[in-house]
Amino acid sequence: MRRPLVILLAALSIPTVAPAQADSTGPDPIAQLVARLDLERYEATIKGLTRFGDRRQGTDRNRAAVDWIEAQLRSYGCSNVARLKYEYPPPRSPSPDGRGGQGVRPTRDTTRASGGGRYRGIRTRTGVNTDSLKQPDARVRALDAQPTTPGAREEVYCTKIGDSHPGEMYIVGGHMDGIGWGEAANDDGSGAALVMELARVFSGPDVHTDRSIRFILWNNEESGLNGSRAYVEQRRALQGTKDEPKWLGMIQHDMMLFDHGMPRPDGTLSPEQRPEADVNIEFQSSAKFAGEAQELAWAFQRANEKYATDYPASVGSHMTNTDSAPFQDYVGAISLRENERGMQIGAGWDPNWHQPTDLYATYSDKDFRLGMNAAQTTLAALAGLVGATIK
Ligand SMILES: [Zn+2]
Repeated sequence: MRRPLVILLAALSIPTVAPAQADSTGPDPIAQLVARLDLERYEATIKGLTRFGDRRQGTDRNRAAVDWIEAQLRSYGCSNVARLKYEYPPPRSPSPDGRGGQGVRPTRDTTRASGGGRYRGIRTRTGVNTDSLKQPDARVRALDAQPTTPGAREEVYCTKIGDSHPGEMYIVGGHMDGIGWGEAANDDGSGAALVMELARVFSGPDVHTDRSIRFILWNNEESGLNGSRAYVEQRRALQGTKDEPKWLGMIQHDMMLFDHGMPRPDGTLSPEQRPEADVNIEFQSSAKFAGEAQELAWAFQRANEKYATDYPASVGSHMTNTDSAPFQDYVGAISLRENERGMQIGAGWDPNWHQPTDLYATYSDKDFRLGMNAAQTTLAALAGLVGATIK
């Protein structure tokens, strides 16, 4: 019942590119900031990431991509650029509950999706491609050829420092590594580029915030959330010291482009973005901070209604298998995606997921525009939460 209502509300609210709305208090700074996002720039940043192939963790192409991301963050003027360092594989297993701390035990019930949802309708096979010969493009095959080796790992972040409460921050993440013998354009070039574009807009010299925002490009997501786990393990206890602001929330972006609907009975999908496409905002109902996460999710949904230009947002309670999971028992944590991770992507709604077809050239402007609307949603919600102004 929720989705028709959301579409109706979106149709009744601001219809076009968020304009600077003049009223008695002057132009709306949130609308002005949202207008600084640009579809062509977003596409160019995704393309820049795909020049490093699938950016698999533990390879030269992954390290080169981290260097390139750092150079971009510096060019935006984002302050306090730094790297988190850790070992992969980790010296000993850090978490007894497996990937994602999903809080829902695996079951033999085949209608039960990861994260706690239920599969409905038609499902197709999903999996990770590990066969180089399934990549028909010799250039991409060569780019992705070097295998992963264990050892030292790094991931890069930068921070917008708040003027009045610098010691409190929201964390905004996307993972820069990928797998599957493609270019990891959607998973997760689309989320990494979104985080980078937000870092660019918030780092504008005329942009001020009361509270801080950390922009982080996770590594080692595809090996089991190891980069975000390392961050939580190393920095959780430092909160409130000069070395780590107190965490106010964590917002993850993972696979932002493709919402072509449910597979058809023959297993194929619509070649076009469906007109009903939406941004899926998920929290995990079994998390210790589920209440805070849910509140955060609805704040994002309201920001989408007011500021996103094309596609509405839906809120769900089954966040799973993403870098916000290691945070979910310590702070309100949500993720934004093209589809629900458990019951939709898990049922085969994204045929390019971890496949050789996850290439920049696979996606159309309508696909990129869904990611753009997620960027508008997060930027607008965050701008309100941190008290952004333009002076
Ligand atoms: Zn991903």
